[in-house]
Amino acid sequence: MLYGIFGYPIGHSLSPLMHNTAFAHHGLDAVYLPFAVHPAHLATAVKSMTALPICGVNVTIPHKQAVMAWMDELSPEARLIGAVNTIHLRDGRLHGYNTDGIGFLRALEEAGSEVAGRTVMLLGAGGAARAIAVQLCLSGIRRLYLANRTPTRAEDLATYLRQNLPYADISVLTMGESSLAAHLPHTDIVVNATSIGMQPHDPMLLPPTELAPRHLVCDIVYRPLHTPLLRAAQERGAWTVDGLGMLLHQGAKAFEIWTECTFPIPLVRAQLLQNFTEQSTASSPPRKE
Ligand code: NAP
Repeated sequence: MLYGIFGYPIGHSLSPLMHNTAFAHHGLDAVYLPFAVHPAHLATAVKSMTALPICGVNVTIPHKQAVMAWMDELSPEARLIGAVNTIHLRDGRLHGYNTDGIGFLRALEEAGSEVAGRTVMLLGAGGAARAIAVQLCLSGIRRLYLANRTPTRAEDLATYLRQNLPYADISVLTMGESSLAAHLPHTDIVVNATSIGMQPHDPMLLPPTELAPRHLVCDIVYRPLHTPLLRAAQERGAWTVDGLGMLLHQGAKAFEIWTECTFPIPLVRAQLLQNFTEQSTASSPPRKE
């Protein structure tokens, strides 16, 4: 059985490592391959799934919205988020899912946190933030503070959520230290869903001194795993959840959809951590003897 991931470029993807580990664990006769699909060939690639057949694929940047056009069925989450990250070929039909939001939620649950009734400060309004925001609203949070570098994107997301998931009280905040600091005392869960934290000299989006033990601070950036935000939160006594949790659990949900088997979370986590260690060793300068 053939599985894979469609993206462009695709060289960095950790999904082949994750899913091939899980297939081997279950003794399944299956392989998962990375496919660099140029946007001009996306329609052909998606239609080829039925012909070859390819039993399932993950979909990543830049194809998550475009593939929706060729799905025979869409899950409620994929429809609400407006993006597909998992396709399953079932009975000759292409079923589109989005497992990013549920992956994020499961990572929080794994860390022992409930979101129902909580106030969440979500930084970012890109694709990942949108999936998380939809899932948080579906899961019964009480209040959502949204902040983004480009304010109109946060406003647009807030309008969409108010119209389609009118369960939480949603406010848009200015992405500035003073505005965020003023709202941190009323916040239970802080989520960084921007790409800030990936580069060594990235700014802190939040004033770290305002973080407190009452906060659960999540960063979905996973390279590096210990981002400056998470380090600052730990220094202030806050709980933290790193980006590996969402990465693992979005993959786990996709694997369950495809195979109806349980994803071996501890085994795959260990493989990913080993991969991170090898990458950081390979990229560090040689030691002087
Ligand atoms: P995206 O759609 O391109 O969105 C990027 C977000 O980061 C936007 O909100 C953008 O703000 C913000 N941003 C970028 N540069 C910024 C800067 N210099 N200052 C402030 N904000 C900035 O990307 P995405 O797919 O949502 O991914 C966001 C991050 O999440 C990436 O680091 C990605 O690796 C990570 N991620 C992790 C997982 C996981 O499983 N752990 C899953 C998906 C994504 P503007 O709107 O102003 O541009």
